[in-house]
Amino acid sequence: MIEVVIDDRCGGCGSCVDVCPSDVLARGPNGKAIIARQADCQTCYLCELYCPEDALFVWPETDRVVGLTVEQALATGDVGGFRRDSGWDEHAATHTNQHWRMGAIFERARLMAIADADAAQGGAKTARDENGRIS
Ligand code: SF4
Ligand code: SF4
Repeated sequence: MIEVVIDDRCGGCGSCVDVCPSDVLARGPNGKAIIARQADCQTCYLCELYCPEDALFVWPETDRVVGLTVEQALATGDVGGFRRDSGWDEHAATHTNQHWRMGAIFERARLMAIADADAAQGGAKTARDENGRIS
């Protein structure tokens, strides 16, 4: 579950808002990221992966909010660890990026979501926009 946004680090780039598949994150009044719908978090870590400032911290608990403070998150010593261990950006030289493996998994999830939506409509095909979202 997403636990905190470290406001001092956030540069307001909006990447985490764009990549979050559950619209958990939003831009606050000052343009920085805020947690808007925490309960919808899927614990997918994409926001951590795409944050160039290591300003987000996701905890592996999937069913509940732990309620970590920024200080507690920093004290884990693992803020930015997922991006580092995934070999993104400046970590490419020291860690192997194997996120290409996720392509087939995301495609499977997309097809399952389409099938679920169709089933919910009694088998009728669901209208979708260009991004595959139900419209
Ligand atoms: S962990 Fe995934 S679902 Fe949760 S806020 Fe980050 S991108 Fe969104
Ligand atoms: S990706 Fe990081 S720096 Fe960019 S808006 Fe989100 S928290 Fe802020």
